[in-house]
Amino acid sequence: MVVGPLVLPLGRRGRTVGGRRAPRPWALPLAGTVLLAALGFCAAGCGRRAPAPSLVLLISVDTLRADRLGAYGCRLGLSPRLDALAAESLVFEAAYAPSSFTMPSVSTLLTGRYPEQNGVHGNKSLLPLGIPTLASLLKERGFRTGAVVSNWVLRQTPQTEGSTVDRGFDHYDDRFPEQEANRQIPERLAPDTTAAGLAMLDRLRGEGEAQKTFLWVHYQDPHGPYTPPEGYRERYLAAESERPWPRTELPRAQPEDAPPGVPEFEQRGLASLPSYQALDGRSDPAFYAAGYDGEVRWTDEELARLLDGIAQRGLLDDAVIVFVADHGEAMGEADYWFAHGEYLSDPLVRVPLFLRLPGHSSERRTDVVALADVAPTLLALFGIEPPAEMLGRDLLAPAPPGGGLAYLATSGGAIRSRRGLVRDGWKYLVTDLGGGRVAEELYRLGDERTNLVGSEPERRQLLQKGLMVTMERVQTDVVGRPRALSEADMELMRKLGYVGED
Ligand SMILES: [Zn+2]
Repeated sequence: MVVGPLVLPLGRRGRTVGGRRAPRPWALPLAGTVLLAALGFCAAGCGRRAPAPSLVLLISVDTLRADRLGAYGCRLGLSPRLDALAAESLVFEAAYAPSSFTMPSVSTLLTGRYPEQNGVHGNKSLLPLGIPTLASLLKERGFRTGAVVSNWVLRQTPQTEGSTVDRGFDHYDDRFPEQEANRQIPERLAPDTTAAGLAMLDRLRGEGEAQKTFLWVHYQDPHGPYTPPEGYRERYLAAESERPWPRTELPRAQPEDAPPGVPEFEQRGLASLPSYQALDGRSDPAFYAAGYDGEVRWTDEELARLLDGIAQRGLLDDAVIVFVADHGEAMGEADYWFAHGEYLSDPLVRVPLFLRLPGHSSERRTDVVALADVAPTLLALFGIEPPAEMLGRDLLAPAPPGGGLAYLATSGGAIRSRRGLVRDGWKYLVTDLGGGRVAEELYRLGDERTNLVGSEPERRQLLQKGLMVTMERVQTDVVGRPRALSEADMELMRKLGYVGED
């Protein structure tokens, strides 16, 4: 790692220029029209009525590492149904979340804008008023819209109704009948999520004349603590025990171990097991990794029930399906354990992303894509011009010069501010060390063991410039004023154990 006096505009908050149209050098809106026509879609202005998918299904899973799915090379057999879906989808091998915190990442998924543009700096931020969402834009075009979310961070509260990621949904089901094992944080488990998803679909299809439906279902289960049904953890214990774990016993951090200015240190997973993960007095990594595997397998089974239920209603064949995760999870890489949010390494921000289009054959894509690309892609599919501040690109259009990119940034809850850019097979990261000093990392995509910042000066310069340009864009294209939960709600989140001051 190179440490130097390089000055980057880290942490700068951009000025508000809401509504101003900005240039979009890497976006080619609606250029996928040829493909749409081939699929039988009718883009705006095509002048004829063409068959269009009656259901857009967005499935997201919390805290799901891409490398735990068979479609991304995992050999544990955790995801047979998802692998089957991938086999009939466009599978994006280099897809990146903008952050490894839920709210920033999900707000990007639903708005096509990066968290800094949205002023969503952590799980306690709200989406500023006036920002359109994928749901609100589809709703304007006659879609019935519904969501089922099972992560409490995504809840709708009386104070925030219509002003967070619930914006644009006719119905927003955020019931949380269960509670996490170690924290008093409400949640909803996979079987209930599936049942609620199918009930939402029936409700939407039963209302009015609209034939077009947008359904978003967000599963929570791989998020810790890992408590799959009995027998699921046990299936994977042997395989996980054979991994060469960097530690065999994980210590538990105590509040007094915290460096100055780091609240809830014992929850963070830095060289220790986060207190919210601890189960049964266990300290061996394999136990927790197997629990995570079990949660993934269980979620896959429930996703199968969701997809089968949609098939039974005769809606699956013509559905557009997007499958994605909001972020990943650390499993001991860089001595970071069973947590997310602190780093921008691949286990935390590389996510699975499939796009299944009716009548389109499967394909694996290696170009760099971002969660910010999902909303513009779906809008373009229906001939809707994405708003100017959507920096994501239409993934069905020809790639822009230089290929796609993904901009990465840690959120307010992280100890250190980090920024990164993924582009053209490379990943460049900058960490703010304070006092005007930064640390740089440069990796070939997929290999984060060897920092090449010292040996690839031209590549470093190129990526550094690209990062600075992108940072300028996201920090000056800010839309709306940053908003946060009420003080009472913030206090509730602190009590429940949400770390950091984000
Ligand atoms: Zn999450």
